[in-house]
Amino acid sequence: MSEQDHFEVAVIGGGPAGMSAAVNVKIRNKDVVIFESQQLGGKILTAPHVDNYLGFYDVNGQELVNSFIDHINKLEIDVIKEKIVQIYSMGEYFSLTTNQEAYKADKIILTTGVNNKAQIKGEADFLGQGVSYCATCDGQLYRDKEVAIIGYSEGSLEEANFMADLAANTYFIPRYDGDLSELDNRVEIIEEKPKVIEGDNLVNKLVLENRSLDVDGVFILRPTVPTDEIISGLELEGSFIRIDSDFKTNLEGVYAAGDCTGKPLQVAKAIGEGQVAALNAVKK
Ligand SMILES: Cc1cc2nc3c(=O)[nH]c(=O)nc-3n(C[C@H](O)[C@H](O)[C@H](O)COP(=O)(O)OP(=O)(O)OC[C@H]3O[C@@H](n4cnc5c(N)ncnc54)[C@H](O)[C@@H]3O)c2cc1C
Repeated sequence: MSEQDHFEVAVIGGGPAGMSAAVNVKIRNKDVVIFESQQLGGKILTAPHVDNYLGFYDVNGQELVNSFIDHINKLEIDVIKEKIVQIYSMGEYFSLTTNQEAYKADKIILTTGVNNKAQIKGEADFLGQGVSYCATCDGQLYRDKEVAIIGYSEGSLEEANFMADLAANTYFIPRYDGDLSELDNRVEIIEEKPKVIEGDNLVNKLVLENRSLDVDGVFILRPTVPTDEIISGLELEGSFIRIDSDFKTNLEGVYAAGDCTGKPLQVAKAIGEGQVAALNAVKK
């Protein structure tokens, strides 16, 4: 890892909250990076009309995001298009892992939004016992075994192909509309909805709508990972991250802003919180 991979502040999520946090870190002359698993913009990208964001009347989400991205680019803020799957505190700094690389940061600002995708029955019970959110991280544990990959975006094809080299059999269950032609021909595609993950102590079955697969591992590859799974020990309040009035979480050096901290789920609130979290994160 080079010094370039060690940032003063890492922002996890490139929606409005994350972009606002990054701008406010950068203009205080600190070294900042945004990790974004999909594309910069977050949920507002899909809004047909936005009428409540000051200064931008009757725009669509994409137009609003274009202005935000223009600002990010003018400040030359680093953006890494990778999904953060795990963050560990190493005492002096944090170690962040994605599907491809490892990075370091002194402070973390979580701006991951809310995850609307319902969990699969059994997912939480078997997490770490056959259920994983990262094939390239945990794949070695399933060498010569049977695995199913449940993919929610195109990024999951790469992880399915990675498993095709390792596992005895790899099933791919696509949960999005997209081109599957890049999939390794050893991977079996099954177009069915996953219903339940079953097992004893460890996973042994994935039940689909019309059939069951005898598998040792189930990789669930959503663009987002539940925040309390990314960083262990993070306290939640219901499904939102618990923060204090400085937007600090219960973990030293970890801040949170935007939809992930609670309602109202709106752009102006996300941007305001991103700013406050950033100002607190850069304080000595
Ligand atoms: C259809 C629609 C219409 C809307 N209309 C309005 C409106 O008119 N006005 C309004 O104020 N609000 C509106 N909203 C709500 C608004 O979009 C959200 O409140 C706002 O986007 C929240 O910003 P955020 O940055 O907190 O989270 P998000 O926008 O959800 O961004 C989070 C980002 O983090 C990324 N991410 C998550 N986990 C990881 C990870 N592990 N690694 C890397 N990246 C990760 C995600 O890919 C995502 O891009 C609308 C929402 C929708 C869906």
